[in-house]
Amino acid sequence: MVRYVYDFTEGGRDLAGLLGGKGANLAEMTRLGLPVPPGFTVTTEACRAFLATGAEPDGLAHEISGHLAALEQAAGRRLGQPDDPLLLSVRSGARFSMPGMMETILDIGLNDDSVLGLAKVSGNERFAWDSYRRLLQMFGSTVMGVDGALFENALAELKRSRGAVNDLGLEAADLAGLVAVYQELIRRETGECFPQSPAEQLRRAVLAVFESWRGERARVYRRREHIPDDLGTAVNVQIMVFGNLGADSGSGVAFTRDPATGQPGLYGDYLANAQGEDVVAGIRNTVALTALAELDPVSYEQLLGHMRTLETHYRDLCDIEFTIERGRLWMLQTRVGKRTAEAAFAIAAELVEEGLITPDEGLARVSGDGLARLMFPRFDTSAVGEPLAHGLPASPGAAVGAAVFDSAEAVRRAAAGEKVVLVRQETTPDDLPGMIAAQAVLTSRGGKTSHAAVVARGMGRVCVCGAEEITVDTEARRFTVAGTTVDEGTVVSVDGSGGAVYLGAAPLVDSAVMRYFEAGERSGALVGAVARAMERADGMRRLEVRANADTPEDAARARRFGAQGVGLCRTEHMFLGERRKLVEAMILAGDETEREKALGALLPLQRQDFTGILEAMDGLPVTIRLIDPPLHEFLPDRTDLAVRIAAAEAGGAVPDPHDTALLDAVNRMHEENPMLGLRGVRLGLVVPGLVAMQVRAIAEAVVERVRAGGSPEAEIMVPLVGAVEELRIERAEVERVLAEVSAESGVPVRCPVGTMIELPRAALTAGRIAEEAEFFSFGTNDLTQTTWGFSRDDVEAAFFSAYLDKGIFATSPFETLDRDGVGRLVRIAVDEGRAARPDLKIGVCGEHGGDPESVHFFHTAGLDYVSCSPFRVPVARLEAGRAALPRTGTSDSR
Ligand code: PEP
Ligand code: MG
Repeated sequence: MVRYVYDFTEGGRDLAGLLGGKGANLAEMTRLGLPVPPGFTVTTEACRAFLATGAEPDGLAHEISGHLAALEQAAGRRLGQPDDPLLLSVRSGARFSMPGMMETILDIGLNDDSVLGLAKVSGNERFAWDSYRRLLQMFGSTVMGVDGALFENALAELKRSRGAVNDLGLEAADLAGLVAVYQELIRRETGECFPQSPAEQLRRAVLAVFESWRGERARVYRRREHIPDDLGTAVNVQIMVFGNLGADSGSGVAFTRDPATGQPGLYGDYLANAQGEDVVAGIRNTVALTALAELDPVSYEQLLGHMRTLETHYRDLCDIEFTIERGRLWMLQTRVGKRTAEAAFAIAAELVEEGLITPDEGLARVSGDGLARLMFPRFDTSAVGEPLAHGLPASPGAAVGAAVFDSAEAVRRAAAGEKVVLVRQETTPDDLPGMIAAQAVLTSRGGKTSHAAVVARGMGRVCVCGAEEITVDTEARRFTVAGTTVDEGTVVSVDGSGGAVYLGAAPLVDSAVMRYFEAGERSGALVGAVARAMERADGMRRLEVRANADTPEDAARARRFGAQGVGLCRTEHMFLGERRKLVEAMILAGDETEREKALGALLPLQRQDFTGILEAMDGLPVTIRLIDPPLHEFLPDRTDLAVRIAAAEAGGAVPDPHDTALLDAVNRMHEENPMLGLRGVRLGLVVPGLVAMQVRAIAEAVVERVRAGGSPEAEIMVPLVGAVEELRIERAEVERVLAEVSAESGVPVRCPVGTMIELPRAALTAGRIAEEAEFFSFGTNDLTQTTWGFSRDDVEAAFFSAYLDKGIFATSPFETLDRDGVGRLVRIAVDEGRAARPDLKIGVCGEHGGDPESVHFFHTAGLDYVSCSPFRVPVARLEAGRAALPRTGTSDSR
């Protein structure tokens, strides 16, 4: 018999899949003896059953009434009892935290009778009517589908007519009047009266929370956070406690450490005489949590104790929601808190130091994505003028963009390629698409735990919130600050680390973490924490990390960043700029002598390139790939040439014969699908002398480096091989030239020869290809392109956003390796390649080599190394270390 409901005394944090994160943690706190209002959790399984069938699962109603009866008995009151009502909250809580994305309904159990009972027992009429109007508003919009703005407008209208600045300015009678207005609104909009039966309220609220899993906001958030669509949410039903009972009550949120910097110490916001929702919504400005020490010293001390208990128990930063009801502290929620990248590194290092977690656990709690964020530049504060405004530094980083004032405009401009900063008075979950599209979020109201701050931190967006000097006028699409007006489209700079906002585009400087990688400068706690994580990762990882580098400068930088060689040197980059002329000459050569002359001019230039790179990577392998792209890429544009010739002819002149010859060549070489045409190994096989020139340049560079006392380790890689025969012929040519240079120079030049695996046919015949290859390097860019039949140059802009929307994939397969398809080919090639040649060295040099998730795949697939752009090298090192961690004890920080 399936069981759908668990009391808080029954569950625990290990049941997060079934009870959702919130429910599991409420149960855990209950077990720890912390003051949690009693309640129960309806499982995600019940939600999944409901979503699958559209009907309440059999037995659920019965189970809920059983648990409700137990709650009522323990409380000595019935739900909605007219003279002293027990009231309940109904909150969503999925496996992964989705802040504000689903629904909550408070004060279930109030109706026209019990509101009077509540007024009497609480001795606070205003509170009773306020609670009732909140229920009507939440139930009306969430359960009954009334547009939430109608309630907001009615409330705003009431405040205006009473001259009240905020909700505290409304009297009991005002709120009683508002209840009548809300009830009429519901009746008018739905044709149905607000249900007076508490049991019916509860039942419908639970189902509405289930339903909210499918809501637009929740779907957008899941897509962005890669949370599977089929998990469903649990529902937590809990006895209400009230923070809005007067000055001796209130609600707050707290972190056991600063989630922006990781600094230890109490951190959070408190709002007296308010419910938790008011704090998170940022509707009234909160005070710092430390102010509670004066307001209510006893609760404050208790809270500190509970926070210590939780941090020691969870062995991590915890965030907490609490309510004080007439001097009594209640814990309403805890979870392992979201944090910035900076805080993640700092906290991991501290907790390892404190002995709360092992170094491996410390490594599991940081990420390559976070590291990449810390490597971004910051504003050069010495070069910027006075800030326009200051707010709270809620999510760090430096962002520049045009100010926009609503989510839709942010999305529209970002889609057109513009960088934008979303400026709002405060954000709501409806602003999510705009927050995703923007570089930064700036709000004029709300604390560091407001919606804007929490969501921005979670997604790594820069955020400054609560910039109170700013007046945002959404309608007029501008904000003003101290006499300055900033209209929509004006560029502003937002410093999420310091909280400052500047007019115009502020200049950027390298981050401290970047200086550490660049120059080994080890200053400050953050850099220390990053360095420790890197050391641990390097100690753990099995995968080597190389870099894709085509210049000595890039190779040298990559080496400073920890690269253990060059995994891909794209030689075609050396045919551009000034040298294009030489390539043209080679293509246009009328006979062997002319061709040899052209190739002879290219040779010393190529040799010089290789010498520089081999020197920068002395003692480490440098994989040099023979030319890959179609040769016409090095010729002028066909249309430009044709226009030039036509213009000359039209003017009665004789066109430049060089232009005419070039156009002939371009026409001859024109391909409809150049990516599938004469490129890669095919070029080497049909263009005489090209490969020989490149191999000679490599071999002579090796000789030069050996004579200079160096240890060059060049490897020669053949691109786009699909059949072993191609490689066999090309390799023979390579070996011939190597032998020739060895004989001429007297320096034996021995370079391993390998191939890229970047066509499905190569992967599927890897066993045969390995007979001729000393190493494989997966070109996952081309392998993705050819496996999917997606043009890598076209499809991302053309239709990937539609594919992402339809859920065909969660991220572009050009970004994160498609494990099922491309990954399967990789595995086949690894298995069959190694079976044929056990010492085959295998790496990857496509873009995926620097993508965290893909690095984990390459680790499990048994590759020897990944190669990525120099700036991704630290990220790949860190993720390769994390991939090698034993699969236990890792925390889920999503
Ligand atoms: C690849 O295809 O993955 C690769 C590294 O080669 P290129 O991107 O140069 O085609
Ligand atoms: Mg390729």
